[in-house]
Amino acid sequence: CGIVGYVGKNPAKEILLDGLTKLEYRGYDSAGIALRNKDAEPVIIKAEGILKNLIDKVNAQGELAATSGIAHTRWATHGSQSEINAHPHSSSDNFILGVHNGIIENFHELKEKLLHNGYKFYSDTDTEVLIKLVDYYYKKYKVGPVDAINKVMVRARGSFAIALMFKDFPDEVWFAKKGSPLIVGKSKDGCYLASDIPAILKHTNEIYYVEDFQCGCLKEKSLTFYDLNGDDVTSTMELKTIEW
Ligand code: GLU
Repeated sequence: CGIVGYVGKNPAKEILLDGLTKLEYRGYDSAGIALRNKDAEPVIIKAEGILKNLIDKVNAQGELAATSGIAHTRWATHGSQSEINAHPHSSSDNFILGVHNGIIENFHELKEKLLHNGYKFYSDTDTEVLIKLVDYYYKKYKVGPVDAINKVMVRARGSFAIALMFKDFPDEVWFAKKGSPLIVGKSKDGCYLASDIPAILKHTNEIYYVEDFQCGCLKEKSLTFYDLNGDDVTSTMELKTIEW
């Protein structure tokens, strides 16, 4: 039900956990985080119940220096409340990691297609189907993230806001939106995304509202937006200053 993402100079852990805290008002039943560092395996931690359960688990890992990551609070719609069903979900080998707000209406049909193509599923969520569908298009057509995400945007019915990390692009967080809210912002320390303003307001009050059928990419020093044709539409985006 809440998403936060960060790529920048600072350790992502605090920024992401603080962001999730600010989104608690949206309600949730479990939470999770993925932190990724260049040339290192990602750290993925999930916990059922209140956010403190996740925070305690993350803190028990000691210092985590990753400067990019994604995090999520889940309100279960497909699959029960459990640690396995909590996000992030991943494709095999953690090739793509992702978190999702929303509902994929045709997930049964998509899951059948992916099972047929040798994909295995570990959770009962529609989200795992969505992440694996990105993986499928990315690998099958050997296209970049933009084209793979856009194919999913067309194929998946329902609503979603997603944040993704690709193994091939360890210092980037990708996003897409169709129906569910998503904002992104930039400060001198990095770029942020979230399902709502309070999650990132501490870092920046200058934000962009991602539009439906847009995807894009956060890097430490840049934000890029693409439309469904794969065209770069960054220059058309309107920066909004939030007076809080
Ligand atoms: N449909 C997804 C799930 O059940 C995402 C729910 C949410 O928005 O938190 O895992």
